[in-house]
Amino acid sequence: MLYDMAHRFLSEEIEPRYEEFEKKEIFDRESWKKAGSAGLLCASMPEEYGGSGGTFAHESAIIEAISHVGVDGFGIALHNSIVAPYILHYGSEEQKQKWLPRMASGELIGAIAMTEPGAGSDLQGVKTRAEKDGNQYRINGSKTFITNGQLANLIVLVTKTDPAKGAKGTSLIVIETDEVEGFERGRNLDKIGLKSNDTSELFFNDVRVPTSNLLGTVEGEGFVQLMQQLPQERLQIGTTAIAMCERALALTIDYVKERKAFGKAVLDFQNTQFKLAELKTEVTIGRVFYNDCVARHLAGGLDPVTASMAKYWLSDLQGKVVDQCLQLFGGYGYMNEYPIARMFRDARVQRIYGGTNEIMKLLIARSL
Ligand SMILES: Cc1cc2nc3c(=O)[nH]c(=O)nc-3n(C[C@H](O)[C@H](O)[C@H](O)COP(=O)(O)OP(=O)(O)OC[C@H]3O[C@@H](n4cnc5c(N)ncnc54)[C@H](O)[C@@H]3O)c2cc1C
Repeated sequence: MLYDMAHRFLSEEIEPRYEEFEKKEIFDRESWKKAGSAGLLCASMPEEYGGSGGTFAHESAIIEAISHVGVDGFGIALHNSIVAPYILHYGSEEQKQKWLPRMASGELIGAIAMTEPGAGSDLQGVKTRAEKDGNQYRINGSKTFITNGQLANLIVLVTKTDPAKGAKGTSLIVIETDEVEGFERGRNLDKIGLKSNDTSELFFNDVRVPTSNLLGTVEGEGFVQLMQQLPQERLQIGTTAIAMCERALALTIDYVKERKAFGKAVLDFQNTQFKLAELKTEVTIGRVFYNDCVARHLAGGLDPVTASMAKYWLSDLQGKVVDQCLQLFGGYGYMNEYPIARMFRDARVQRIYGGTNEIMKLLIARSL
């Protein structure tokens, strides 16, 4: 029911304006608020904090609807199943009351700021520094490639509170950007895909926040908190991957039935049939694996290695499916007016963010 509702909302409210958001390279706040009113924000947060009291299965239904409708730049998945859980799992009661209901309504738009110009795969290299000064932190540093970076007004920031301790000196601190001075947004970065998402640079120049904005009871827990949340973040990339594969396949099957060459439908060529038979088989395998990962995650048992497998294998599959489907569209597949062209561009980053697929293989290899 939630999937149907999300699909209807996204088709009626977002899809008609999506081209405009792609051109402007940013969504509007109104769409976030509408999504909040429709119950699509914080579906897995408890009702006492303004959420819908659901689980990751509910988030999965919403993300699948986003990719099936084809509005992949709408950054609510990250807000819902990456940013909000940090506050739910590590926030104090006061922090949860303060931030989660406003995230559920769309008043606050969430971002997670880990990556820096000099620290991507190797997050231990984070240089952004938070120094204690009385009952405040003074924060200096810069972040890049931050999803929702222009719109976000609640940022979970990865900082060093004690650089000498390396990973153990890392802490997560929440910044409500409307309430601080010294915070600046840099460029809305010019990307090859996911154009409507405002991926940006962020700068922190002597930004002061109360020490009570720390997530967790003591400093230095940031790395452990990040590691604990990574399985869900990686699984969520798998959600987008499998749903986009399914959409690519459905669009392509429709197209090759209609398109004629040499006096017959493109589907009538044995090459087309074999290609699509292979892709359909692999996407079915991907779906079964994905569903199994979700079931394990809901039961509390999705280990980091399997989550890494899901992220890497499903995003690789997505790249392959979208590329081979585009080929069956011929020249039309290269035209932006055909959704498969945008899917080809949007799919590419899935193998890069959330930990690159090489890093995923490294994590899997450690378990051998
Ligand atoms: C559109 C987009 C949105 C993003 N959103 C966010 C966000 O919201 N928040 C955020 O914090 N970050 C975000 N990122 C950043 C993303 O997570 C990083 O780009 C990613 O982790 C890789 O880091 P890097 O770009 O510095 O690449 P690098 O770490 O410089 O890697 C370069 C290459 O080296 C390889 N490599 C690195 N280390 C190893 C190793 N040990 N063994 C083998 N190969 C290795 C990598 O796999 C890659 O192929 C986003 C990125 C993009 C493009």
